[in-house]
Amino acid sequence: MVMQSEHARSYYAATAGQMPDYPCLGEELVVDVCVIGGGFTGVNTALELAGRGLSVVLLEGRRIGWGASGRNGGQLIRGIGHAVDGFARYVGNDGVRYLEQAGIESVAVVRERIEANNIDCDLRWGFCELANTAAQFAAFADEQRWLGDIGYGHETRIVGPGQMHEVVASDQYAGGFIDMGSGHLHPLRLVLAEARLAQAQGVRIFENSPALEIIHGSTVQVRCAGGTVRAGHLVLGCNAHLDDLEPRLTGKVLPAGSYIITTEPLSREVAQSLIPLDLALCDQKVGLDYYRLTADRRLLFGGACHYSGKDPADIGAYMRPKMLKVFPQLANVKLDYQWGGMIGITANRFPQVGRLSQHPNVYYAQGYSGHGVNVTHWTAKLLAEAIHAGHSHGFDVFSKVPHMTFPGGKALRSPLLALGMAWYRLKEILG
Ligand SMILES: Cc1cc2nc3c(=O)[nH]c(=O)nc-3n(C[C@H](O)[C@H](O)[C@H](O)COP(=O)(O)OP(=O)(O)OC[C@H]3O[C@@H](n4cnc5c(N)ncnc54)[C@H](O)[C@@H]3O)c2cc1C
Repeated sequence: MVMQSEHARSYYAATAGQMPDYPCLGEELVVDVCVIGGGFTGVNTALELAGRGLSVVLLEGRRIGWGASGRNGGQLIRGIGHAVDGFARYVGNDGVRYLEQAGIESVAVVRERIEANNIDCDLRWGFCELANTAAQFAAFADEQRWLGDIGYGHETRIVGPGQMHEVVASDQYAGGFIDMGSGHLHPLRLVLAEARLAQAQGVRIFENSPALEIIHGSTVQVRCAGGTVRAGHLVLGCNAHLDDLEPRLTGKVLPAGSYIITTEPLSREVAQSLIPLDLALCDQKVGLDYYRLTADRRLLFGGACHYSGKDPADIGAYMRPKMLKVFPQLANVKLDYQWGGMIGITANRFPQVGRLSQHPNVYYAQGYSGHGVNVTHWTAKLLAEAIHAGHSHGFDVFSKVPHMTFPGGKALRSPLLALGMAWYRLKEILG
């Protein structure tokens, strides 16, 4: 993917409102913590650390929210990774319960941040998970039962195949599961507002300041072109964009391209007819479709997962047929925006949270596997807790889950994943 230094020319960048410019690092600084990466992970970790009284520098190589955080589908969905009960052998049954609860509370963290600070990011509640197959539909009953058992405090509803038009004007689905405790929002406005909060708490933010080199030691040094930051602790929140800065972590995350198109504004009647309850929606195919209406009534439609490292030549032309398969009635609607972003995929689709064994003052959180709007806010809290207090139960639970390094280095990682995904897609087609 060709990456520019400015924000992707997305619907989000066009409607972000005021985008403050932060300076480029041009001096030598000494602080408690240096955070690298100006997405949800880095910004929120910096904010949480400053709230605990630590001095913090945040380095962003391009602009705040330039990465996945400022260009994603905006779906704020409960849960962490996929099927956390599969990790019981690492974290125990209590650990599984902790992760299940964290998947719910992480949404509450985002809600509280937005509400407590009056952040204008078009937050709306309601999400519908879509079933592509009868088996997926049948599984919703178990999910609803489980949420009831744990006392989930939000309305949920199973929508049968015959009622799907109450939720979405499409004939593609075998049913749906509505969760009013999940929702959708404008992610770039959120991360920009969080950066402003961090700055107000004393975090020194630098944009266009890529970290070029890390020199390890009890004081870690982070070298940029115009200056160096010396810190007691370092946090890496670079996700799919880490590249060669820390090769021990880069090899554990596969960058995969996902693409989004946004239509011209639709009339109130058309918008309401497409998604009558104004929910965020996401299906369960391998290269899943995710979509929702924006506050100004556009359809924002995302999907695909490209592992080749190459973008489609024309994202609009590539994504439009996917949108029309779901909504053929939009054949004459114009597209106003098209863009792509990099998802950081992990082999077990569980986020990677930990510290480098060789350098215990270097912490990281990455690899949210396409589900990070809520989880980044949670891992930020854990990183800050662990650094500030020297211990965090949640951090320990997360970091017990082992993560595979993809074999083959840079050259082989993407083709390997492409092969794996092709296999899953084949299984899907064959039923
Ligand atoms: C197209 C797309 C759609 C998605 N949709 C959803 C969704 O609907 N719901 C959901 O929950 N999740 C979604 N995700 C995933 C979610 O956006 C991510 O999990 C989350 O934003 C990750 O945040 P982050 O801060 O860890 O990484 P990022 O936001 O990617 O930020 C990493 C930052 O690190 C910076 N950086 C890298 N290297 C350096 C360096 N050397 N020096 C300084 N800075 C550096 C980069 O410039 C970048 O800004 C989507 C992702 C994509 C790409």
